[in-house]
Amino acid sequence: MFAHNKRLQYTVRVSDTNPGLANLLLEQFGGPQGELAAACRYFTQALAEEDPGRKDMLMDIATEELSHLEVIGTLVAMLNRSAKGRLAEGVDTEAEMYRQISGGGNDSHVTQVLYGGGPALINSAGQLWNAGYIDSIGDPSADLRSNIAAEARAKIIYERLINCTDDPGVKEALGFLMTREIAHQQSFEKALYSMQPNFPPGKLPGMPEFTNVYFNMSQGDGDMRGPWNSDENFEYREAQPAVDGGDGLASVRMKADDQQVLQQAATRLRSDPDCDPLTGAELGAGEALDASTMGQKDLLG
Ligand code: MN
Ligand code: MN
Repeated sequence: MFAHNKRLQYTVRVSDTNPGLANLLLEQFGGPQGELAAACRYFTQALAEEDPGRKDMLMDIATEELSHLEVIGTLVAMLNRSAKGRLAEGVDTEAEMYRQISGGGNDSHVTQVLYGGGPALINSAGQLWNAGYIDSIGDPSADLRSNIAAEARAKIIYERLINCTDDPGVKEALGFLMTREIAHQQSFEKALYSMQPNFPPGKLPGMPEFTNVYFNMSQGDGDMRGPWNSDENFEYREAQPAVDGGDGLASVRMKADDQQVLQQAATRLRSDPDCDPLTGAELGAGEALDASTMGQKDLLG
């Protein structure tokens, strides 16, 4: 079950309303790295999780992300409060209202006009939230790695948002939300490493002859060596086709009648390498007319 507590997870003290900043914060409300995406990501993973420790952790963190959604949504609502009232009551001249909601080149007019100043499930550019933001695949070794990266991305977005405001209360609340993403990243890493083995993801091992090979596929100046391709860690090989030792060509066995129909289509669609057909482009590309004779030709024509 879920229950709601009327007190926020972190106190929100906004110094001054600011519709433009509210609009930027929507990135963490309805954006791909936002709190709704995080909550849904961990909640759905938790529902299917068989390991009691991971299930408990995923439910704890999913529920905390919903609490973060409430904090960031409340920040948006607070920052929009004055513009919202003034727009609803029509107390300003049109020009002044327009200046207030689109001043500074932000998109907050969408939030104000379409959503009435409430936190909408959109990102800061008005893109609707969508479940495609969540890339869970139902294998903990892959999902935990994705969760670690998701927390890293959320942390970076919070950092960028913190750099966009000088409001101390907003900075502090965003700092808390950012900090919790660091904590979650650590929990997911610990959970990943407490599952042994966790690499490679899944159950099947890789083909041993290719698992520790590095192919130098980008040719030319600028090849670099590092731990990602060092001789201690990898067999460094130059790009080469058909690394399996085969002919590198594709083939498939087919039934005789399938083969015949396919051949029929290929015959019908074959190109003739010996012809040189005249094209529409060539027909329209006569010699450019000399500017001095053009008027005369037009008259004669
Ligand atoms: Mn969060
Ligand atoms: Mn998180």
